Amino acid sequence: MKRYFIAGNWKMYKTVSEAVALASDLVKKLSDCGEKIMIAPPFTALQAVSEVLKGSSIILGAQNMGPEESGAHTGEVSVLMLKDLGVGAVILGHSERRHNYLESDALINTKVKLALKHGLEVILCVGETLEEREGGRLESVLRGQLAEGLRGVESSVLDRVTIAYEPVWAIGTGKTATPEDADAVHAFCRGVLAELYGKEAAKNMVIQYGGSVKPENAAALMAKANIDGALVGGASLKAESFVPIAKFRES
Ligand code: PEP
Repeated sequence: MKRYFIAGNWKMYKTVSEAVALASDLVKKLSDCGEKIMIAPPFTALQAVSEVLKGSSIILGAQNMGPEESGAHTGEVSVLMLKDLGVGAVILGHSERRHNYLESDALINTKVKLALKHGLEVILCVGETLEEREGGRLESVLRGQLAEGLRGVESSVLDRVTIAYEPVWAIGTGKTATPEDADAVHAFCRGVLAELYGKEAAKNMVIQYGGSVKPENAAALMAKANIDGALVGGASLKAESFVPIAKFRES
């Protein structure tokens, strides 16, 4: 049976005590969930949440990391520091990093390779803006983000790479791509991955959907052939909404 990858991106929310409370609740309520689960608290709560997750199967994720191992990089957090805290996966290329902090494909690619070199899993986010979609540039944007983001990544480490397709117009807006639309775009992404790595490798790659995933739409999205999981923002901030998404099979 297919095992889905459901990840929560807590963004810039939760103090340490709030993060510990939510993580503890999730550990209890998801102990019987068979899907692969990750939560990505803010950097300041990683250490405390890492303690909470010990002994559970929930993976500790980070929302970003610096492009260097160490050095004079004020304000950055290194892959080595993340590993030291028990982080197992890192979200890279999120649209908020691309658009609000002007991260380029080249910078994202440097981070992807660094995270993989140090044994972390990577969730590489790709997605088009409404303007790009309406201007007929959906495919060229996604092709570019995938090819540039994965440049130089060997096929031997693809089992640690997840792609998250997140249409920018659907993030935090309450607008979701229809399951049919999302599935078609996922199929396109899988085709690009096949061009890069071959059909068999592309078939095995996990492609999450992200963009206003909620308990009400999770099962319909997950039912689609090319959708292998979800990257959840707003609805991951409460156990009442994240648990039913992770347990979408019960709905
Ligand atoms: C996200 O931030 O990756 C995301 C998909 O957010 P939301 O679920 O709130 O749209």
